[in-house]
Amino acid sequence: MTAVVAPKGACGLPVVATVAGLTRHLADARAQGASVGLVPTMGSLHEGHLSLIARAVAECDVVAVSIFVNPLQFGDADDLAHYPRALDTDLDLAATAGATVAFVPAVEEMYPDGPGDMTTTVSVRDLGDRWEGASRPGHFDGVATVVAKLFAMAGPCRAYFGEKDFQQLAVVSRLARDLSFPVEVVGCPTVREPDGLARSSRNARLSPEERAAAAVLPRALRAGFDAMVEGEYRPAMVESRMVQVVEREPLARLDYAALVRAVDLSPAASLLDGGPFRLLVAARVGPVRLIDNLDPGEDLPAELAAGVPAQERGA
Ligand code: AMP
Repeated sequence: MTAVVAPKGACGLPVVATVAGLTRHLADARAQGASVGLVPTMGSLHEGHLSLIARAVAECDVVAVSIFVNPLQFGDADDLAHYPRALDTDLDLAATAGATVAFVPAVEEMYPDGPGDMTTTVSVRDLGDRWEGASRPGHFDGVATVVAKLFAMAGPCRAYFGEKDFQQLAVVSRLARDLSFPVEVVGCPTVREPDGLARSSRNARLSPEERAAAAVLPRALRAGFDAMVEGEYRPAMVESRMVQVVEREPLARLDYAALVRAVDLSPAASLLDGGPFRLLVAARVGPVRLIDNLDPGEDLPAELAAGVPAQERGA
């Protein structure tokens, strides 16, 4: 329906490489009455990303998937250098999932003066300073800045983000509201492996032993959940149950395990204050830092409900 503004990828999915091209493509679509969905990613697509695309396809007429490894949000040069990239496969997967256009800009297109020379950046105070923000200084400024740029380019749309990165979802929702972007931020459930590990592009960097050890993150969340179900109302005790589980895994090094208020991710003072709450965990396993979270107020996902050893539940 809209003029194709860029060459087609091998898979037949139109690929737009310029900001002007994306803006024009989506504006044309809207002019013809189409609703627009945006799925921002850093590529190396897996089932988690595909679930976001599928949701967007179900709810929007046109679905743009952006694939951009954003240097601004990486504090660790090694993490950026080793971030997995698989553009051809990504385009095939995105097309198969129903995306209608891919936005694949070069770093120079997103940051003409270089990412280090941005003089205007977006910072989400407090919400962006805790947990991941504290462990990875500058990370959420990089995320908020690139997402604000994508929102400005895309125009009115629904934008789909995973609960897997729960703090990121909160930061992005807040920035859309605070800066009046005409964007509805939609959170989508975490897609997990059969042993409960959240799907992540970084999982590919784990050795088989590390991959097995990484399942300690969802096990820790499950232990925290079980403690709450058993009636534990002291956040410190819930957290210590999670800590114990991670510390029993020799290949994992805990960063944080926390019970927080879901609304602003501040530490929960007491479960008697009323929710909603969220369990958070972050740990390094081998060369990668992994994060996960769980809504203790919802039914436990099937993958998490399966087999946690009794001694890890403190039973
Ligand atoms: P990334 O490519 O890691 O920046 O992720 C792009 C989007 O996919 C973000 O909104 C993530 O939260 C989301 N995502 C990543 N992994 C998963 C997962 N396992 N389940 C659901 N969404 C995910």
